[in-house]
Amino acid sequence: MDSPSVEKIHTMDKEGNEITSVGFERFGFDSAVQLDVLRSLYLRPHYVTTIHSSLNSPKLNGGSSKREQEEEEHEHARFIQGFGLYQSKSIYHPDDHSISYTTLSRFPPVKLLAPDKRKRILVTGGAGFVGSHLVDRLMLLGHDVTVLDNFFTGSKTTVSHWVGHPNFEMVRHDVVEPFMIECDQIYHLACPASPPHYQYNPVKTVKTSFMGTLNMLGLAKRTKARFLISSTSEVYGDPEVHPQTEDYWGHVNPIGPRACYDEGKRVAETLTYGFQSQDGVDVRVARIFNTFGPRMNPFDGRVVSNFIIQALKGEDMTVFGDGKQTRSFQYIHDLIDGLIALMNSNETRPVNIGNGDEFTIGEFAELVRDVVEKVQEEDGCKPARKVEIIYGPIPKDDPQRRRPDTTRAKETLGWQPRWTVRMGVEEMVRYYKAKMAEGSI
Ligand code: NAD
Ligand code: UDP
Repeated sequence: MDSPSVEKIHTMDKEGNEITSVGFERFGFDSAVQLDVLRSLYLRPHYVTTIHSSLNSPKLNGGSSKREQEEEEHEHARFIQGFGLYQSKSIYHPDDHSISYTTLSRFPPVKLLAPDKRKRILVTGGAGFVGSHLVDRLMLLGHDVTVLDNFFTGSKTTVSHWVGHPNFEMVRHDVVEPFMIECDQIYHLACPASPPHYQYNPVKTVKTSFMGTLNMLGLAKRTKARFLISSTSEVYGDPEVHPQTEDYWGHVNPIGPRACYDEGKRVAETLTYGFQSQDGVDVRVARIFNTFGPRMNPFDGRVVSNFIIQALKGEDMTVFGDGKQTRSFQYIHDLIDGLIALMNSNETRPVNIGNGDEFTIGEFAELVRDVVEKVQEEDGCKPARKVEIIYGPIPKDDPQRRRPDTTRAKETLGWQPRWTVRMGVEEMVRYYKAKMAEGSI
């Protein structure tokens, strides 16, 4: 197994400086953590190993042979190289087609905060891609975190490494139903984000956006918690203004296939500002542009995961349309920095959070192919055949251009993206590659 090691990865920021930590101190809230600690939680947090049970010691009767134990220890030693101690594992026994799970025996150290600094934070959608990274950060920073999720697109495994920690709680709950908890801050993220997922049940997507946001705003009103909603660049639709500033009202087809999400988020913003003006709720609105990173569901149909998985498997990469439509891709850690800065700032207007590096989808396919080849070459497993980029039909209402104007975030939050798209893609390639090597993709 060619597992990557943390030591091998050197990540440079846009200025060419090495990134060793993410986050920063803003508005009295320190969000900085070491990148290696975060990586130990997402690059290889859990692994699956296959062990053949010996006939004399059936595992289901509680025993395991010395040989099995040695094999397990050997596999573990190979796995954790450079990743510290914070992994769990599953052992697959093909002989009787069973699997045993272990949870973490140790948690990474979290900050010890004074009571007035320690917040009780609710993260709806906390088991999803963005939510789980936010949870890692808030946990490491020493806060009390509750995840509320119905696991529609998220998975318990994204945050299972915190289960059992005294600062952590996970609740299965659908936000379209009211929920009560005492808290200081609410990050309201619950909503499917990939087009195939949100179009799977459009009525439910609208309900989640409207009723879910209504319920969480009601909770913020009762508890006086500060409320942040993860809105989206989709509120700008297929934009006629480029790049998009927060003052642009958008160009959205209200009855097209993307409307359940786009209009859902627009009305969620309307509700948010309604609660602000009517009830004095303390609100923040983040308009997030395309974000990618490890833990993205490899099969959720979004372009970054599709391209990387296709290239790693040696399959053709499927560009929709002529590939001239553009997107601007941001790496997950920049987004988390931006969300935390916004939550703790005094900025109540909508704020774009995204990376201004704009690519045509055709160019982006080439970049992904390039990075996958580089990683395969470094790991000594470059395939003989070069992956092809092929072109197919474009989905209805696919926006033609998208790039954030992030002047407001820079001026009011002191935030700007640090990760280059290439560096982010490289980390994500290593993540998916490791998952494929262990057989879980
Ligand atoms: P995701 O699908 O990985 O995560 C969404 C999470 O919400 C999942 O865990 C899902 O199970 C949960 N959820 C969905 N409906 C729910 C409901 N009714 N009740 C409770 N939980 C529910 O998506 P993501 O990429 O992590 O997106 C998170 C948020 O960020 C979403 O609000 C999305 O609109 C927003 N956003 C994301 C991006 C991006 O590029 N990732 C861009 C713009 C906006
Ligand atoms: N896309 C593509 N191939 C894929 C998946 C997506 O060419 O396998 C295109 C899609 O048509 C869109 C862009 O990539 O133009 C981004 O799509 P995604 O679903 O990631 O997010 P969107 O920004 O459209 O919500």
